[in-house]
Amino acid sequence: MSGNIETTRKKIKVCVIGAGAAGLCAIRHLSNDLISFEPAVFEQSEVIGGTWVYSEKTQADIGHPIHSSIYKNLRTNLPLQLMNFPDFQRMDQTEPSCGTHEQVLKYLLDYADHFNLCQFIQFNMKVINVEPILKEEDWRKTEWKVTIKNLKTDLVEENNFDAVLICNGHYSEPKIPKISGIETFSGNVMHSHDYRSPEKYSGKTVIILGAGPSGIDIGIEITGFATHVYLSHNGPRFSSALPPNMTEITRVKFVNGNEFHLTDATTVIADDLLYCTGYNFSFLFLDETCHIKVDNDHVNMLFNHLINIKHPKMAFVGIPFKVIPFPMFHIQVQYFLQLLKGQVTLPSLEVMIEDSKVKTKKTHALEAFQWEYNDYLADAAGIDRLPKFYKIGYSEWSVKRTENLLRYKYSKIEIIDDQTVKISI
Ligand code: FAD
Repeated sequence: MSGNIETTRKKIKVCVIGAGAAGLCAIRHLSNDLISFEPAVFEQSEVIGGTWVYSEKTQADIGHPIHSSIYKNLRTNLPLQLMNFPDFQRMDQTEPSCGTHEQVLKYLLDYADHFNLCQFIQFNMKVINVEPILKEEDWRKTEWKVTIKNLKTDLVEENNFDAVLICNGHYSEPKIPKISGIETFSGNVMHSHDYRSPEKYSGKTVIILGAGPSGIDIGIEITGFATHVYLSHNGPRFSSALPPNMTEITRVKFVNGNEFHLTDATTVIADDLLYCTGYNFSFLFLDETCHIKVDNDHVNMLFNHLINIKHPKMAFVGIPFKVIPFPMFHIQVQYFLQLLKGQVTLPSLEVMIEDSKVKTKKTHALEAFQWEYNDYLADAAGIDRLPKFYKIGYSEWSVKRTENLLRYKYSKIEIIDDQTVKISI
């Protein structure tokens, strides 16, 4: 499958699905080259911002799914300065380094305004089906039939595109583990997707399953109201101090009434249960002929966590996690656009399939590998690498977080120059 996408004088019609941070980043770069590209962006809601559009209401209140999983008092788990897109460094607050969700939404609105992006977006338009129209055997000639439903009028329309950029977000469909006996528990059970504020846990003993960013942050927030919070996980114990009414426990093996039996053979009694167990990747709008399958937290088959191997004129922005998302979007989008313009050469099909093989359940969790990944894409696309302060800041930041889970969000971060970042708690 090696080769370039042929450059023709015809504009490349690109469909972008979603207008969150990833979709906005896609439009920013597409609209920077309107000689080559003709973008059309479909956003199911009435506004831009995706995850960062806070909704006080949950599905239980309004009867239909809510996209955002943001809660009322959320502070970012990265310093705002490291969340900036490299070409729009506007979040420069230094203390506390982690901002509110309102600040991030304002930043995205400013980004859209600055690059005049909203003119390309059609709102209330939900993409309900995407399928390839194969032309001969040549993947470069594949087109896409995209079916979109107007949520205001219920009218359905079909459009053809040369390429599709999927920016639908990956934190909306709760992942809930099966726990034996959970049906015998009569307390309140909720996933962090529906968590908004801590007051309802006043005087309760709460068990939280999962100690990722949400489990830790929400758990600490709830300790201000709950009698006790148990944080259940099987990772290494934290080196940081925790609130006095928070205890780490091992995983839940089975439940009997309000007794939670743990893998270390101990038992805790709890009133309420909160799943902070993450989210599933979901692409319900992809026809099976797209050849994309979600399997055990892994999106199959993608080259570089990004390009549909069977149909390379389809890309997925934002699949990797444990990364700094916005700067990575900036690189991923440009790599794909350079591929469409014939400036990136893909390896053979066999090499790409080998590359995409599931290594572990956490294959898309890049962590320390994210820098190599971003640099690889940037070099392959012939675009600027990310400035080094992202890596330096993130690495120092991770250390501060590990040392002090209670205070790290209130630290001060100074980016002195490309190579020097100062963080103080
Ligand atoms: P989203 O923001 O989810 O946007 C997807 C958009 O696609 C939405 O507008 C949606 O309506 C639209 N859409 C979906 N399906 C369709 C369809 N079929 N048709 C049309 N439109 C569709 N990141 C950080 O950098 N720092 C943080 O501190 C941070 N904290 C987080 C805290 C929480 C609780 C969560 C859930 C995430 C956090 N993130 C954080 C990650 C965050 O999700 C990313 O930063 C980023 O906002 C993801 O952008 P996105 O565009 O990929 O997805």
